[in-house]
Amino acid sequence: YTARFYYGTVRRAERKLVELAATDPLTGLSNRRNLRVLTEQVLAQARRAGQPTALVIVDIDNFKHTNDQHGHEVGDQVLVHIGALLATTCRAQDIVARWGGEEFLILLPNTQADAALMLAERLRHTAATQPLVYANQAIAPTISLGVAELDADETLDSAIARADRALYRSKEEGRNRVTAAE
Ligand code: GH3
Ligand code: MG
Ligand code: MG
Repeated sequence: YTARFYYGTVRRAERKLVELAATDPLTGLSNRRNLRVLTEQVLAQARRAGQPTALVIVDIDNFKHTNDQHGHEVGDQVLVHIGALLATTCRAQDIVARWGGEEFLILLPNTQADAALMLAERLRHTAATQPLVYANQAIAPTISLGVAELDADETLDSAIARADRALYRSKEEGRNRVTAAE
């Protein structure tokens, strides 16, 4: 009995560790590492089935200013808020990850560029119109997005680089916008 008790305890602890290793502690989204693991599975399935895959990079606009104006703690709450908006606006099969500081990456299985652009525009609009209400203030930073559909046999990193260049153009052209990758 004792052996079985400890076995169960260890198994639960192991599962918790696996979950912690996959999750960004602030937002509860997948972390960068877990996104890579899940992407391998999605791309393998997509190749077998001949389905398209798209990805969206999201970067909060002028987030340094949000931190400066409201403090780092509120900045953290903004990250949680934006992460939740992204996760609830996406479909169940989409994978939303925190990619870095104030950047998110969304992998869209079985999705072509035009549908990915429509989703990205919906995300942009949602962020711009649903503020975080904090201490009677509405805090609504906008987001800029870059969208890429993966080419056949293209690596995740290559598609991310293209989406990142598109994101850069969104920033250059005034932020709060969506740009398709070349
Ligand atoms: P841009 O519109 O060009 O993206 O401007 P930006 O200010 O968002 O970009 P920049 O890269 O200059 O600054 C990013 C800021 O994000 C600076 C950094 O302190 C903040 N940041 C990164 N991670 C976190 C975090 O976990 N919590 C908080 N509160 N801030 C963070
Ligand atoms: Mg950034
Ligand atoms: Mg930013």
